[in-house]
Amino acid sequence: MESILTYPRQVFRDDHELLRQTVRRFLDRECRPRQAEWDREGRVDRETWLKAGREGLLCPTLDSAWGGGGGDFGHAAVIVEEIGRSGISGLGFGLHSDVVAPYIARLGTEAQKARWLPGCVSGETILAIAMSEPGAGSDLRAIRTTARREGDDYVIDGSKTFISNGLNCDLVVVVAKTAPDLGGKGVSLLLVEADRPGFRRGRKLDKMGQEAADTAELFFEGVRVPAGNLLGEENKGLGYLMQELAQERFVIALGAAAKLEAMYEETVRYTRERIVFGKPLLDMQNTRFALAGIRTRATAVRMMVDQYLAEHLRRRLTLDEAAMAKLFATEELGRALDEMLQLYGGYGYMMDYPICRAFVDSRVMRIYGGTSEVMKELIARNL
Ligand SMILES: Cc1cc2nc3c(=O)[nH]c(=O)nc-3n(C[C@H](O)[C@H](O)[C@H](O)COP(=O)(O)OP(=O)(O)OC[C@H]3O[C@@H](n4cnc5c(N)ncnc54)[C@H](O)[C@@H]3O)c2cc1C
Repeated sequence: MESILTYPRQVFRDDHELLRQTVRRFLDRECRPRQAEWDREGRVDRETWLKAGREGLLCPTLDSAWGGGGGDFGHAAVIVEEIGRSGISGLGFGLHSDVVAPYIARLGTEAQKARWLPGCVSGETILAIAMSEPGAGSDLRAIRTTARREGDDYVIDGSKTFISNGLNCDLVVVVAKTAPDLGGKGVSLLLVEADRPGFRRGRKLDKMGQEAADTAELFFEGVRVPAGNLLGEENKGLGYLMQELAQERFVIALGAAAKLEAMYEETVRYTRERIVFGKPLLDMQNTRFALAGIRTRATAVRMMVDQYLAEHLRRRLTLDEAAMAKLFATEELGRALDEMLQLYGGYGYMMDYPICRAFVDSRVMRIYGGTSEVMKELIARNL
């Protein structure tokens, strides 16, 4: 991978780099030409998911028993990084493969895994996770969706919002209260198939960026699922979320670091070519100082993320470290994109320019997966 680093990255092996080439080809061949159509439709088409499945780009870390690539987190990281670098917008692969599928792989029974994981690998079963509600985002203890036990079933009532892959999803991990009196200790995770009666998708939400990401509201009105759809143990949901959210946050950090590098490289190229007052924009001291600062900070982000990636490959990444990586990488990305966009003048405000798209698409990285403020709270807990 091209890098702003002056030394080669140590974390990846040859098989990771081989996969990187496959991902780049896939993004250029199958995704880039469809971006405008996806933006218009407000979603990525199913055929692209199925093609990604055929190329082994979905759930690369899942065991081969379920059709997965049997890879390690390095394979997942390569896919996340290349999507981040590419500027292609709206692909929900990272959420599907590295955020939601791990819940089923780690907490699921053999029967649940056999039933759903092969479809996750092929792209036939698209996943979503429904935590956030109109009245509860950062504070998940405040959710109001309930799952009431009735005989051999759970009956789910409530509504969720901001759900990524909300329009395309076939299976949703729903966070619901099974014991509302117990507050945070009464939360469980349930698998809900999208064809269950009473399940309804709301409108596609109109966002600042990522037009092609099918972020939607989901409604549950007396949705009945068998008790066999409970994921893990009853009332342990919040603990499971805390464990799995570390990887979700780290995935966001990986994507942010890659986007920061790609946009830095793009901006150096642009300012070298753009002539102002008879000389390249890059020769102006303001441009040089801005880019020198960004290069320095992007290097610090890269070093942190690579160190934590190595830790995560050894399964030693802690919750605090994941929070620090997300906080640092996404805040630095946001600050750098704002500075770099300014260097483009009016072109920076035009959606045809990657910097403009990166600016609007990545603003949400400081919000979803837990806001920067929530990251600081988590980090501060262990002061
Ligand atoms: C595009 C997009 C995709 C998303 N995808 C998903 C998804 O797939 N599944 C899902 O469940 N959710 C998803 N979300 C929801 C996302 O995780 C939440 O928006 C986020 O966690 C913040 O919750 P909130 O929006 O309710 O804001 P609030 O919780 O209302 O926060 C409002 C403000 O209060 C601040 N705040 C909160 N707590 C504290 C504190 N303790 N100290 C100081 N300040 C605090 C926040 O930082 C923020 O600035 C998505 C959101 C977006 C925008």
